[in-house]
Amino acid sequence: MVRPLISITRTPPRPGREAIAAAVRRAVTLAGGLPEAVRPGAVVLLKPNLVEIPYTRESGAVTHPGVCLAVAEMVRERGALPIIADAAGMGSDTEAVITFMGYDQLRSDGYTVLDLKKERSVWVENPAAAVLPRLRVYEWALTADLLINLPVMKTHDQTEVTLSLKNLKGLLDDCSKKAMHRRALFRGIPEIAAFFRPSLTILDAIYTQEGVGPVYGDPVEMDLILAGRDMVALDTVAGAIMGYRPEEVPTTMLAAGMGLGTADLEKIEIAGLPWQSVRRRFRRCSESEILKEVPSCSLQIGDDTCSGCRNTVISVLVELKARGRLDALSDKIIVTGTPPGHELPGEAILVGNCARQHGPNKNFIAGCPPENSWIIEALCPPLP
Ligand code: SF4
Repeated sequence: MVRPLISITRTPPRPGREAIAAAVRRAVTLAGGLPEAVRPGAVVLLKPNLVEIPYTRESGAVTHPGVCLAVAEMVRERGALPIIADAAGMGSDTEAVITFMGYDQLRSDGYTVLDLKKERSVWVENPAAAVLPRLRVYEWALTADLLINLPVMKTHDQTEVTLSLKNLKGLLDDCSKKAMHRRALFRGIPEIAAFFRPSLTILDAIYTQEGVGPVYGDPVEMDLILAGRDMVALDTVAGAIMGYRPEEVPTTMLAAGMGLGTADLEKIEIAGLPWQSVRRRFRRCSESEILKEVPSCSLQIGDDTCSGCRNTVISVLVELKARGRLDALSDKIIVTGTPPGHELPGEAILVGNCARQHGPNKNFIAGCPPENSWIIEALCPPLP
């Protein structure tokens, strides 16, 4: 059996445009080169992660524009047309991210950079999927001849990490993103990855993020580029570099179980730097100190709560603190998981589909796990 090939290359510290391009080219070459389908006349969709405006350009939340530029240049050298495109997270402004991160400079250089939220989206069937058998996707993802995935390495407050697989969620229209959160985010991610199936993934691990990612976590400069065609293998290697075992990352394991790729490090061929030589343990979302700042009576986290709702609640607390609104918990209780065995007070806010078992409650927030903003709205309703 052919082993999946993942390459790892390094940039110098705080690399400029040329150093990034050199590392990206080497990573792509070591991973087998650009796909053959990148040929004259082909339209190649480059999908970075433009989730949200971060604190700084180097905070590791958004794919570095230099990585996109390097890939776009390689695509253009083959006579193909690169289209750089993404949609920011739900409720966020992609154009503002494009401007803040300097992607508009790529436009000045003659490249097309699109805010997918302004582009056409269409309903499509995905009968192989259990979570979203019908989904609304941006048309560019269907009409492009091939897709190159350009995620960034970071921890995530719901899925532990966000790497190759999770990055493809940005190709869904907001209504399908919401539906995936309501039904089953973990299972939905590998299902849409199987639907889009990028031809190549190049992971930006120059500026990365640990702690309560994926936007306001703590920056970590790693100065690495990874590349490969097997997204599961790439997420396994990237996770190992971050100090995660594959079984700690549900999306990786579910994707491997669906036959989407290999999550066994022993069966993955590494080209370039050995992953062990660049390993650095990333602080998990669950290791946040925020729990020490919240009275324990304000939280009822059932023992069976998985990392999805657990980390979501932590992330909500971090955001409330940043807004100076931890007081919103003074008269409310957040509940996740199955019943604790006694009646809950009326002000309990039931978070996540597992908590539905507590019975009818007007403060139930559906989702598996729910979006952070839905919980924040329940805790701090907007003024009338
Ligand atoms: S609803 Fe249940 S299974 Fe889903 S993320 Fe929350 S605790 Fe986990």
